[in-house]
Amino acid sequence: MALERTFSIIKPDATRRNLTGAIVKKFEDAGLRVVASKRIHLSKAQAGEFYKVHAERPFYDELCEFMASAPIVAQVLEGENAIAKNREVMGATNPADAAAGTIRAEFAESVGENSVHGSDAPETAEVEIAYFFSGLELVG
Ligand code: UDP
Ligand code: MG
Repeated sequence: MALERTFSIIKPDATRRNLTGAIVKKFEDAGLRVVASKRIHLSKAQAGEFYKVHAERPFYDELCEFMASAPIVAQVLEGENAIAKNREVMGATNPADAAAGTIRAEFAESVGENSVHGSDAPETAEVEIAYFFSGLELVG
Protein backbone atom coordinates (compact mmCIF):
# COMPACT_ATOMS: atom_id res chain seq x y z
CA MET A 1 0.00 0.00 0.00
CA ALA A 2 1.29 3.46 -0.88
CA LEU A 3 2.25 6.16 1.57
CA GLU A 4 -0.45 8.81 1.39
CA ARG A 5 -1.01 12.33 2.75
CA THR A 6 -4.22 13.84 4.03
CA PHE A 7 -5.31 17.18 5.43
CA SER A 8 -6.60 17.59 8.99
CA ILE A 9 -7.99 20.45 11.06
CA ILE A 10 -8.31 20.48 14.84
CA LYS A 11 -11.39 22.69 15.10
CA PRO A 12 -12.12 25.65 17.43
CA ASP A 13 -14.20 23.63 19.93
CA ALA A 14 -11.14 21.45 20.54
CA THR A 15 -8.44 24.13 20.66
CA ARG A 16 -10.67 26.10 23.07
CA ARG A 17 -10.79 23.11 25.44
CA ASN A 18 -7.01 22.51 25.19
CA LEU A 19 -7.45 19.16 23.41
CA THR A 20 -4.77 19.62 20.71
CA GLY A 21 -2.31 17.21 22.31
CA ALA A 22 -4.94 14.58 23.08
CA ILE A 23 -6.12 14.64 19.45
CA VAL A 24 -2.60 14.53 17.96
CA LYS A 25 -1.92 11.50 20.19
CA LYS A 26 -4.90 9.71 18.56
CA PHE A 27 -3.38 10.32 15.11
CA GLU A 28 0.09 9.19 16.16
CA ASP A 29 -1.21 6.10 17.97
CA ALA A 30 -2.96 5.13 14.71
CA GLY A 31 0.32 5.31 12.79
CA LEU A 32 -0.24 8.72 11.21
CA ARG A 33 2.72 11.12 11.19
CA VAL A 34 2.34 14.91 11.44
CA VAL A 35 4.48 16.19 8.54
CA ALA A 36 3.23 19.80 8.70
CA SER A 37 1.39 21.75 11.38
CA LYS A 38 0.34 25.31 12.13
CA ARG A 39 -2.01 27.03 14.55
CA ILE A 40 -3.91 29.84 12.86
CA HIS A 41 -7.06 31.90 13.35
CA LEU A 42 -9.18 31.89 10.18
CA SER A 43 -11.35 34.80 9.13
CA LYS A 44 -14.96 33.94 8.31
CA ALA A 45 -14.18 34.53 4.61
CA GLN A 46 -11.23 32.12 4.72
CA ALA A 47 -13.38 29.49 6.45
CA GLY A 48 -16.08 30.08 3.82
CA GLU A 49 -13.61 29.49 0.99
CA PHE A 50 -12.38 26.27 2.60
CA TYR A 51 -15.94 24.93 3.07
CA LYS A 52 -17.39 26.35 -0.18
CA VAL A 53 -18.52 22.87 -1.28
CA HIS A 54 -21.13 23.20 1.49
CA ALA A 55 -22.23 26.75 0.50
CA GLU A 56 -25.81 25.69 -0.29
CA ARG A 57 -26.28 23.68 2.90
CA PRO A 58 -28.42 25.18 5.69
CA PHE A 59 -25.58 24.93 8.22
CA TYR A 60 -22.99 26.77 6.08
CA ASP A 61 -23.16 30.20 7.71
CA GLU A 62 -23.07 28.76 11.23
CA LEU A 63 -20.18 26.47 10.22
CA CYS A 64 -18.13 29.41 8.90
CA GLU A 65 -18.83 31.46 12.05
CA PHE A 66 -17.74 28.53 14.19
CA MET A 67 -14.55 27.87 12.22
CA ALA A 68 -13.56 31.53 12.68
CA SER A 69 -14.49 31.65 16.38
CA ALA A 70 -11.09 30.56 17.79
CA PRO A 71 -7.75 29.21 16.52
CA ILE A 72 -7.52 25.98 14.56
CA VAL A 73 -4.58 23.63 14.05
CA ALA A 74 -4.09 22.78 10.37
CA GLN A 75 -2.02 19.65 9.77
CA VAL A 76 -0.84 17.28 7.07
CA LEU A 77 -0.88 13.65 8.16
CA GLU A 78 1.12 10.96 6.38
CA GLY A 79 0.86 7.20 6.52
CA GLU A 80 -0.30 4.03 4.79
CA ASN A 81 -3.84 4.67 3.58
CA ALA A 82 -3.82 7.98 5.47
CA ILE A 83 -7.08 9.39 4.08
CA ALA A 84 -9.22 6.42 5.13
CA LYS A 85 -7.26 5.86 8.33
CA ASN A 86 -7.77 9.46 9.42
CA ARG A 87 -11.52 9.24 8.72
CA GLU A 88 -11.59 6.06 10.83
CA VAL A 89 -9.78 7.70 13.76
CA MET A 90 -12.07 10.77 13.48
CA GLY A 91 -15.34 8.82 13.65
CA ALA A 92 -18.71 9.72 12.12
CA THR A 93 -19.63 13.38 11.52
CA ASN A 94 -22.33 13.24 14.21
CA PRO A 95 -20.69 12.22 17.50
CA ALA A 96 -23.87 10.35 18.44
CA ASP A 97 -23.06 7.94 15.58
CA ALA A 98 -19.27 7.83 16.12
CA ALA A 99 -17.69 4.52 17.12
CA ALA A 100 -16.27 4.20 20.63
CA GLY A 101 -12.67 5.35 20.94
CA THR A 102 -12.82 7.71 17.96
CA ILE A 103 -11.94 11.40 18.33
CA ARG A 104 -15.51 12.53 17.73
CA ALA A 105 -16.98 9.97 20.15
CA GLU A 106 -14.61 11.13 22.88
CA PHE A 107 -14.36 14.86 22.26
CA ALA A 108 -17.00 16.28 19.89
CA GLU A 109 -19.68 18.54 21.34
CA SER A 110 -22.26 18.32 18.52
CA VAL A 111 -22.63 17.51 14.80
CA GLY A 112 -21.34 21.01 14.01
CA GLU A 113 -18.72 21.43 16.72
CA ASN A 114 -17.16 18.04 16.10
CA SER A 115 -13.48 18.68 16.91
CA VAL A 116 -11.82 17.62 13.63
CA HIS A 117 -11.92 17.90 9.85
CA GLY A 118 -10.36 15.30 7.54
CA SER A 119 -10.13 15.12 3.75
CA ASP A 120 -12.50 12.62 2.14
CA ALA A 121 -10.58 11.70 -1.07
CA PRO A 122 -7.15 12.13 -2.74
CA GLU A 123 -8.42 15.05 -4.85
CA THR A 124 -9.78 16.98 -1.88
CA ALA A 125 -6.67 16.20 0.17
CA GLU A 126 -4.48 17.76 -2.52
CA VAL A 127 -6.61 20.92 -2.79
CA GLU A 128 -6.96 21.32 0.99
CA ILE A 129 -3.24 20.82 1.67
CA ALA A 130 -2.41 23.44 -0.97
CA TYR A 131 -4.89 25.92 0.57
CA PHE A 132 -3.00 25.88 3.88
CA PHE A 133 0.61 24.86 3.14
CA SER A 134 3.36 25.58 0.65
CA GLY A 135 5.60 22.72 -0.47
CA LEU A 136 8.38 24.13 1.70
CA GLU A 137 6.22 23.65 4.81
CA LEU A 138 5.74 19.91 4.28
CA VAL A 139 8.75 18.94 6.34
CA GLY A 140 8.23 15.22 6.96
N1 UDP B 1 -21.99 19.99 9.67
C1 UDP B 1 -23.01 20.60 10.40
N2 UDP B 1 -24.27 20.08 10.34
C2 UDP B 1 -24.58 18.98 9.58
C3 UDP B 1 -23.54 18.38 8.85
C4 UDP B 1 -22.26 18.90 8.91
O1 UDP B 1 -22.78 21.60 11.09
O2 UDP B 1 -25.73 18.54 9.58
C5 UDP B 1 -20.62 20.54 9.73
C6 UDP B 1 -19.69 19.69 10.61
O3 UDP B 1 -18.79 20.55 11.30
C7 UDP B 1 -18.99 18.85 9.57
C8 UDP B 1 -18.82 19.86 8.43
O4 UDP B 1 -20.05 20.59 8.43
O5 UDP B 1 -17.76 18.33 10.06
C9 UDP B 1 -18.60 19.27 7.06
O6 UDP B 1 -19.62 18.32 6.80
P1 UDP B 1 -19.27 16.91 6.13
O7 UDP B 1 -20.57 16.28 5.75
O8 UDP B 1 -18.24 17.09 5.08
O9 UDP B 1 -18.68 16.07 7.37
P2 UDP B 1 -17.20 15.56 7.70
O10 UDP B 1 -16.51 15.27 6.40
O11 UDP B 1 -16.52 16.65 8.49
O12 UDP B 1 -17.39 14.32 8.53
MG1 MG C 1 -16.31 16.44 4.70
